[in-house]
Amino acid sequence: MDKQEIIRLLKAKGEDRTQLLKRSRDVKEKEVGRKVYFRGLIEFSNICSKDCLYCGIRKSNEKVVRYNATDKEILEACRFAWENRFASLVLQSGEISSPMFVKRVDNLLKKIKQLSNNELGITLSCGEQTRETYLRWFESGAHRFLLRIESSNPELYYKIHPNNKTHSFEKRIEALHFLKETGYQVGTGVMVGLPFQTYEDLANDLLFFKKIDIDMCGMGPYIEHEDTPLYEYRNLLMPKQERFNLTLNMIAVLRLLMPDINIAAATALQAIDPVGREKALAVGANIIMPNLTPCNYRKEYQLYEDKPCLDEDAELCRNCLEARIELAGSEIGYEEWGDSKHFFKRVASEKLLKL
Ligand code: SAH
Repeated sequence: MDKQEIIRLLKAKGEDRTQLLKRSRDVKEKEVGRKVYFRGLIEFSNICSKDCLYCGIRKSNEKVVRYNATDKEILEACRFAWENRFASLVLQSGEISSPMFVKRVDNLLKKIKQLSNNELGITLSCGEQTRETYLRWFESGAHRFLLRIESSNPELYYKIHPNNKTHSFEKRIEALHFLKETGYQVGTGVMVGLPFQTYEDLANDLLFFKKIDIDMCGMGPYIEHEDTPLYEYRNLLMPKQERFNLTLNMIAVLRLLMPDINIAAATALQAIDPVGREKALAVGANIIMPNLTPCNYRKEYQLYEDKPCLDEDAELCRNCLEARIELAGSEIGYEEWGDSKHFFKRVASEKLLKL
């Protein structure tokens, strides 16, 4: 598929769109199967050193009460995941790289592995770190990492981030390379429907994913947040429903481009449509992240407006997801890590090349 063809598909409406979504679903079922894998999401801290112009927990947002969940709270959430046969977790936080933070995550990883007899798979989503930190965390048991590039166009990147050393586009790209070299299954992604974003940008994002050969992807609609600088440009946005539809088109085209990767049904989809994530699963996605963040912290982890599941506890969340996934015609891969098939093929071919 070349760029023009991708742009055409991203714009697809009506019967063309139905065909696209159907093709993507077929490719998904053939390449990665019908199962949906759970990643219990623990948003363990909202303390952040970055000032991304779209994000509700950016450093300068003084309305946010900053928290650090205690080890006990985090481990309880992990135990819940394990006892309920979720095979994997995502530990997500703001971006901090202090020695104390690095050590804390390291300890947590070891404790989680211990409490679950090494059974829980762990994905980290804790931002840009040094090569040493990535290695240390990998050695302590994390085996997947999510770091969205947010936009692969440097010009757009600097429209949605401050243009300074802390928010360097090159550093983010470099971090993705470090992660891959370390041996992680690497996931990235973008927000869809950002102000100033074009169809060409989105097509380039997909080609970028292909070029750097990612194993996993998470893409969600951009949703404005009142207490962020980007809110000023809300008049430039397409209606939410269009951002939603475009995100599904992005997922579908990505599934065609990279048939064997894992694609997450982003939580932000549900901020627009109550069954948004299920719709993504019915199209090309095969991963879902039930929220296991302790309830008292959820309202302080509002990356965007209308973030769902603010007052649900973990048990409720699981029941609700289960029913929903069955509705979407899929089955839950309990007790299976559901790793990226693409990753194993990639590693095997890298080994062959070295011989
Ligand atoms: N700090 C971590 C992860 C936490 S934020 C990191 O840098 O990787 C997780 C994701 O939420 C971000 O990568 C971003 O794509 C998304 N996000 C942030 N603000 C958003 C908004 N206003 N609308 C939609 N998604 C948003």
